[in-house]
Amino acid sequence: MQITPLILEKTIRAANDVIEQNAEEVAELDRAIGDGDHVINIQRGLKVLAEQATDISQLEWSVAWKKMGMLCMSKIGGASGSLFGTLFVAMAKDSNDKVFDTLAFSSALLAGVEAMKLRGKSAAGEKTMLDVLIPVAVVLQENAAEDALSDLLIKVKETAILGMESTENMLATKGRASFLEERSVGHIDAGARSSQLMICAIADVLLQECEAG
Ligand code: ADP
Ligand code: MG
Repeated sequence: MQITPLILEKTIRAANDVIEQNAEEVAELDRAIGDGDHVINIQRGLKVLAEQATDISQLEWSVAWKKMGMLCMSKIGGASGSLFGTLFVAMAKDSNDKVFDTLAFSSALLAGVEAMKLRGKSAAGEKTMLDVLIPVAVVLQENAAEDALSDLLIKVKETAILGMESTENMLATKGRASFLEERSVGHIDAGARSSQLMICAIADVLLQECEAG
């Protein structure tokens, strides 16, 4: 199934809504082991993206990702601004000239996540948003060729939730939470929770599209 950038308008708005609905919880998670601003950073970025969502959804995929990446880099603060900016810019580079389907999307997401790892000098298991994004990119890549889109989306949601939950017992070795050393254990990472919420909301939009045929 080919996916057009028109879907970006609905997915950006869905991500914005789910973060609004869970803002206090995400803020609390970052207050526990970070500096408490993560949800504000994410909200700022999503607000700018939502304002431009109609225009962005009219662009080609690679141009749309690049625009989203540049907006994230310039408008969001904190570690997450440059990380999400890096994600989208790398996705733009990978999607140049490709017909867009789930395989192309999974390739772009893997490229984006690899770029984030380089930018953050981080890997899986360090109690960050990457503990959601890496397994989601991998599950997409492993199943995109065979699965029906709805089955793929359900696997993506389950993987994102497991990844988010897995951060609770991890020791933070990157970002502000790493300053707490052992005291970081026992808390879910705020970036992992916000990423999981956005991924599940985006997957739900696509599941609705599947149902609508
Ligand atoms: P800051 O830590 O600069 O205040 P945010 O609060 O916006 O930035 O984002 C914090 C989140 O960013 C963390 O919860 C974690 O998921 C993620 N993060 C922090 N540092 C890194 C890193 N080096 N690599 C990947 N993710 C990181
Ligand atoms: Mg913070």
